[in-house]
Amino acid sequence: MLSRRKFIKTCLVAAGATALGGCKCWAGSPSPSSAMADVPKSSDGYRPGYLDLAARGELERREHALWEKMESCSLCPRMCGTNRRAGRKGICSSDHTFKVASHAPHFGEERPLVGRHGSGTIFFSNCNLLCVFCLNWQIAHRGEGRPTTAAQLADMMLSLQRRGCHNINVVTPTHVVPHIVSALRLAVDQGLNIPLLYNSSGYETLEVIQLLDGVVDVYMPDFKYQDDELGVRFSQGAAGYVGYTSAAIKEMHRQVGTLKQDNGVAYRGLLIRHLVLPENLAGTDVFARWVVSELGADTYVNIMSQYTPLFRAQDHPPLNRRLIAGEFEQAMSWAREAGLRNFL
Ligand code: SF4
Repeated sequence: MLSRRKFIKTCLVAAGATALGGCKCWAGSPSPSSAMADVPKSSDGYRPGYLDLAARGELERREHALWEKMESCSLCPRMCGTNRRAGRKGICSSDHTFKVASHAPHFGEERPLVGRHGSGTIFFSNCNLLCVFCLNWQIAHRGEGRPTTAAQLADMMLSLQRRGCHNINVVTPTHVVPHIVSALRLAVDQGLNIPLLYNSSGYETLEVIQLLDGVVDVYMPDFKYQDDELGVRFSQGAAGYVGYTSAAIKEMHRQVGTLKQDNGVAYRGLLIRHLVLPENLAGTDVFARWVVSELGADTYVNIMSQYTPLFRAQDHPPLNRRLIAGEFEQAMSWAREAGLRNFL
């Protein structure tokens, strides 16, 4: 099983090979007419919400509302106010165009997302949070990736479905959510019918998440800090991280509820990722108590131990080291003491 880091590295190498004409990640756009052959069902009887929204024209209305937010950009809590539709860029270094770093079935995500055939992962270039310890800094900070159109993105979604993936997993989607919904609408017209998984840093506005009600089937936000000051210090001045993220996650939970699975494959619900940081900078004890009190003890969480001091972490002690003995065990004790019981 590839780790996420190895997966991205593999795909970046492959993306580079594309220029030479030999990349399997970027291998051609599928023919829409062949997209529906032999697709494993994500769940008996489950129908992704976006199908009904599309059928009654609501998906198009959401798409337009999201594109309007890009005119004086308020797609994330940065509230840059930049007119990205006119070609200007905000803190996320993105205008009205977008890039994709890779798309492929991914087997390194949490088990219920992977199933037998993999999670249909699409990594977007650039990011709205920009952490100093970013795992994917070549993509998120440098913006490595390939310029992509909505039609090409729709083809990627259909390609992943045809390859048997159990979901479309959009990674770092916040700054490109209008493009994603545009592509989704095109893909629905061509037969897309597997759950949409929104894999985000958690630094979201309530308004955007409300516009995604019914569009997204599975939310997978990070909850990185429990202290606003840390967002400012370690995520390029991101103000109000705790308030924005907690409000967004509560709304996600209201929309989709606890993670639901069919034959071990998730098709709807919420899964929160929480990376344990040195010296408990992630506030795992506070995080666990918040989840139990606001969302319930049955909420699915992935409390992660693999912190690695990458990118600029060396300049920000104590982020310049891995976890030491006992730190992760302490974090898990806090989580269990708080009452959490669904760990992935
Ligand atoms: S999505 Fe980008 S441009 Fe828009 S508010 Fe966030 S950081 Fe600024």
